[in-house]
Amino acid sequence: MIEVSKKCIGCGKCVPVCPFAAVQMVDRLAVINEACTLCGACVQVCPVKAITINREEASARRDLSSYKGVWVYVELMDVPGGHGKKVRPVTLELLSAGRRLADELGQELCAVLIAEKNHGWEKELGEYGADKVYLSEHPEFFEYNTDIFSTAVIGIINRHKPSVMLYPASIQGRDLAPRVAASIYVGLTADCTALAIRDGLLVQSRPAFGGNIMADILSPTSRPQMATVRPNVMKIDEPRPGRTAIVVREEIKIDKGLRRVKVLERKLAHDKAGTRIDEARVIVSGGRGLKTKEKFRLLEDLSALLGGVVGASRAAVDMGLKDKTHQVGQSGTTVSPKLYLACGISGAVQHIVGMKASDIIVAVNKDPNAPIFNVAGHGVVGDVHEILPKLIDSLKKKGK
Ligand code: FAD
Ligand code: SF4
Ligand code: SF4
Repeated sequence: MIEVSKKCIGCGKCVPVCPFAAVQMVDRLAVINEACTLCGACVQVCPVKAITINREEASARRDLSSYKGVWVYVELMDVPGGHGKKVRPVTLELLSAGRRLADELGQELCAVLIAEKNHGWEKELGEYGADKVYLSEHPEFFEYNTDIFSTAVIGIINRHKPSVMLYPASIQGRDLAPRVAASIYVGLTADCTALAIRDGLLVQSRPAFGGNIMADILSPTSRPQMATVRPNVMKIDEPRPGRTAIVVREEIKIDKGLRRVKVLERKLAHDKAGTRIDEARVIVSGGRGLKTKEKFRLLEDLSALLGGVVGASRAAVDMGLKDKTHQVGQSGTTVSPKLYLACGISGAVQHIVGMKASDIIVAVNKDPNAPIFNVAGHGVVGDVHEILPKLIDSLKKKGK
């Protein structure tokens, strides 16, 4: 489990970094008590590597039946214009999916909220399905940091033992979840697009082999069963006004020494209107059929007229027509706008998987047999280089 070896020189560095007050100095030696959650913070700071955690042994000793409940990690995001933070919409998608899983298991749905200061978010989390919110507040949670947030999440998991833990497959979730998984010695299924319960186990489905098959992954021998879930795949259920969640405060002491990375500058890849592609209501996307950067600019004009954001297929990104942050699809971003306009995109399965949840799909392609027409509600067979300028002209005239 966790051991302090004879190498300990009694420096005391491990005492202040322990978030759970589990280390004491006794006769100039570190002694670890039962409050230890195996978060690993002390291991990182020991100058002589005197502390070791045997995670394999800890995992083998786990009583799986004591793990109960479906948990969702709450991701917060900055509100543009420096107006504080809000719950990222993908969290609500996970709560909706989590609610169904929890009901099927007959267990609680809990949200894990790590924040510098809570701004009444438990109200929203309750209305979207959470029964309980594990809330940890600390000044050091002012911005996301791998070491600090993972220490907090690991501590809360080890204290309360959830059966299932879901994270968004966002930049933050993709950083946090693997760190937590490695620290508590459990598996992690990345980028799930569907979740279900079978025989009491979480079925974690995700595309495999280049998106050509769906793989169902189970974690029968470890707890919690952990998965990251793609944004814009799960539909958000209607909130239930007045539904409340119990708030459970989690005291976690965070030492500044845990922060190994400082953010010096932040550059956000937003479009001119400040909208991220995964949150856009209108996306005008282009593929290899656009051919040149100059032609691709027509999409910028059209998207500006429609109040949208430009997207791209991987082929267009590989050709340098658009930045990778705009790529839609399996290895790009999953989107679900109100309107998705696909121009000169063939509709490969890896593209479709990232946009098929859009409300209205319109495709323009010169090949009437292009697979994109299988998912498009409206199709135009023709040359984008002729159709786009006409569309732009007519929208401009209408705007006058
Ligand atoms: P093409 O398939 O070359 O299609 C171009 C289309 O433009 C054709 O249908 C053609 O008829 C049409 N066209 C040509 N000229 C005109 C014209 N003048 N007017 C109208 N139509 C015209 N792809 C993604 O998009 N996103 C991903 O995230 C992604 N991830 C991948 C992950 C893996 C592991 C793999 C193996 C592949 C991935 N791909 C992804 C690549 C994917 O398989 C396709 O190669 C890619 O989507 C093709 O892009 P495209 O439709 O722009 O190009
Ligand atoms: Fe070390 Fe974390 Fe255990 Fe404290 S809780 S003793 S920091 S592993
Ligand atoms: Fe001992 Fe290492 Fe803790 Fe220092 S940091 S007291 S050497 S276990």
